[in-house]
Amino acid sequence: MFEEERFVTSTKLDLDGEENSLRPKSFDEYVGQQKMKNNLQVFIEASKKRNEALDHVLLYGPPGLGKTTMSHIIASELGVQLRITSGPAIERAADLAAILTNLNENDVLFVDEIHRLNRAVEEVLYPAMEDFALDIVIGKGPSARSMRLSLPHFTLIGATTRAGMLTGPLRDRFGVICRLELYAPNELASIIKRSANILNIKIDEKACLNIASRSRGTPRIANRLLKRVSDFAIVMGEAGITEKVANVALEHLEVDALGLDYTDRKVLETMILKFNGGPVGLETLAAATNEEAVTIEDVVEPFLLQLGFISRTPRGRIALPAAYKHIGAPLSDSILKQISLFDKDSQDE
Ligand code: ADP
Repeated sequence: MFEEERFVTSTKLDLDGEENSLRPKSFDEYVGQQKMKNNLQVFIEASKKRNEALDHVLLYGPPGLGKTTMSHIIASELGVQLRITSGPAIERAADLAAILTNLNENDVLFVDEIHRLNRAVEEVLYPAMEDFALDIVIGKGPSARSMRLSLPHFTLIGATTRAGMLTGPLRDRFGVICRLELYAPNELASIIKRSANILNIKIDEKACLNIASRSRGTPRIANRLLKRVSDFAIVMGEAGITEKVANVALEHLEVDALGLDYTDRKVLETMILKFNGGPVGLETLAAATNEEAVTIEDVVEPFLLQLGFISRTPRGRIALPAAYKHIGAPLSDSILKQISLFDKDSQDE
C-alpha cells in the first residue's frame, strides 16, 4: 500500500507538516546525542564569552536525526538569528552573496544538503567562511577588476548525510565536525512521550517503547509512526494508544517488529536469495531492487548496519547471519564460512 511513497523513509514527507511544533527548543529538550551536545555547549559558551561568532559547524548523519533542530537550538542559545537554506536552493554565486550580505553580526546560516552546492557557489563560500569576505568582480573584459567586500562575522552550519560527500577544501573550513548517531529505543521512547504530550495523544509506556523500537533509530520516523498509530486508535474507538493498538496499527502499516519495511526486506531478500548473500556492489543492488542507490546508501543501509544485518566489505555488501534469520532463509555451514571470510575485511567503523 505504500509502494508510491515509502512510509518509513527518514526524509521529510508532506504528512510531517507540523514537524516544527515538535522540535525541541533547547539542549535540555533535545534527547540523546550527548557527546555532540556536550561539545557544542562548551563551544557556544566560549564564543559567547569571547563575544565572537561560533566556529563553523558541520553536522552529518542520516536524515531525520535532528540536524535542523540542532541548528535552531544553537542559534537560540547564541541569541542570534537563524537563516535556513539548502545546497540545491542556492543556484548562483549571486544568490549566496545576497544571503551573506543580509546576515547580521554573529548570525547562524544553516545550509542543508551542503554537499549539493555547485562549484561556483562553493568557491564564494571559501573566503566567506575563512576571512568573512566576499570577492566580487566589477566590469567585464580587460577593465574588469576584483573587489573584496567584508561580511558580518557569521557561523555556517552545514548539514549533510555523509561527510565524505563534501569536497576536501569545504570540509577543512569547518572548525567543529559532529556526527549524529542513530537513537537507542529508550531515547526514541522519550521523544515519543514528549511528542504525544504536545499533540494531546494518550499513550502508555509499553506502546511508546513498541513504537520506538520500530522507528529505525530516527526521531522523524518515531513522530510519524506516533501520529499514524494515533489515527488507528481513533478509528478503532480506543481512548489512547496501548501496546495492542500499536501492534495492530504497525502491522497495517507494514512495519515489522524491528522497524523494517518492505524496502528493507526487499534489499535483504535480494542480497540473500539473488546474490547468495553477497558480496554485492551498491549499483548492482540498486538495479536489482529497483531502488535509488542513494536511498539504499543513506536510508536502508545505516539501519541494517546498526542491526548487524549487513556488513560493508571492500568487495561489496554482504548479508550477516542475523539477516538470514530475520527473513527465514536457511543458513548452511558453507554460507557461514563464506560470511566470516568476507566479513574479516569489513570496513564498518
Ligand atoms: P534532520 O535535519 O537531521 O533531517 P530534523 O532536525 O528536521 O532532522 O528532525 C526531524 C524531527 O525529529 C524534528 O521535527 C524533531 O521533532 C524530531 N527530533 C529530531 N531530533 C530530536 C531529538 N534529539 N529530540 C527530540 N526530537 C527530535
